[in-house]
Amino acid sequence: MNIFDLPKKELENYFKTFNDKPFRATQIYEWLYQKKCFSFAEMSNLKKDLIDKLCSIFEIELLNLVTMQKSKDGTIKFLFKLNDGNLIETVLMQHDYGKSICVTTQVGCNMGCAFCASGLNKKIRNLETYEIVSQIMTVESLINEKVTHVVVMGIGEPFDNYENVMRFVRIINDPKGLAIGARHITISTSGLVPRIYDYANEGIQTNLAISLHAPNDEIRSQIMRINRKYSIKEVIKAMDDYIAQTNRRVTIEYILLDKVNDMPACAYELAELLYKKNVYVNLIPYNEVSEMPFKRSTKEAMNQFYDILKKRGTNVTLRREQGHDIDAACGQLRSKNIKK
Ligand code: SAH
Ligand code: SF4
Repeated sequence: MNIFDLPKKELENYFKTFNDKPFRATQIYEWLYQKKCFSFAEMSNLKKDLIDKLCSIFEIELLNLVTMQKSKDGTIKFLFKLNDGNLIETVLMQHDYGKSICVTTQVGCNMGCAFCASGLNKKIRNLETYEIVSQIMTVESLINEKVTHVVVMGIGEPFDNYENVMRFVRIINDPKGLAIGARHITISTSGLVPRIYDYANEGIQTNLAISLHAPNDEIRSQIMRINRKYSIKEVIKAMDDYIAQTNRRVTIEYILLDKVNDMPACAYELAELLYKKNVYVNLIPYNEVSEMPFKRSTKEAMNQFYDILKKRGTNVTLRREQGHDIDAACGQLRSKNIKK
């Protein structure tokens, strides 16, 4: 078993089965996540027989790096190979407030959004918890620096791999581990309504982002298949419930696609839909995908869209894009490598 699979509570239970003290789990956590020591033999406060026992049960293994591409703005894109040969990608972005990492949760994605490169390759499998945790551990080891923020926005639909993603969050949020603050962790969903209700009940202070991308069902169903299952009305209702229960502001992601969802009428409709709600709209310039017909909105259309929302009192930003020169959009690098 990979040691990065276990939340601290579960590791404590292992020590109980060995008749050892649960605080051993804290020691191991500190070695792994804080001191970046990846060999039980080097954990100097553990006895030899315990080390042997740990070695016989657990592996400490990072991910295999295939390529690493650095963009002019400092964004780094990592392509990793999993033990079964599948490829996944992870993106690291530099900000003035720290470094944020965008992690992948599935090999491929079944949601099939019409504009997304990840949806080109159907889901092969969910990532195991340790494979998500290892993305951060491997990146931190490669760059020898600490990641401060985590966005679960890489390949895959995190709420379609709900249990593992929640275990991942518990591991990286643990104060004895990576200690990444809950408020610095954001999970993005395409709108799996039942899981939004579950997430509201987790009792954690992490953030939720919803990929809305359209102000009405007609447009949304054309570009996001999931909308035929859960309509905008149901998504908004789940979101309202989440806000009421957690008192947390929700991020609404909205990719601007030329002449699909970027017309002024869409901006007015979106402002109306979100009027007086505790949300923050993130307008995202589309990263064009060669196999797909969609085009990025013009600068004028983006600015006009932004202005309309702003005038109607919506909290909105136009996302500064990162890594445009290295295909940093969701799934693009992986999809290129699969073709090769
Ligand atoms: N499956 C989840 C999380 C991963 S996608 C979700 O859909 O929310 C993360 C974000 O990247 C989503 O908002 C998605 O719509 C967006 N995205 C996908 N392809 C993109 C592209 N080519 N350009 C810009 N954003 C893209
Ligand atoms: Fe999957 Fe998200 Fe891409 Fe849609 S946008 S196909 S949900 S990864």
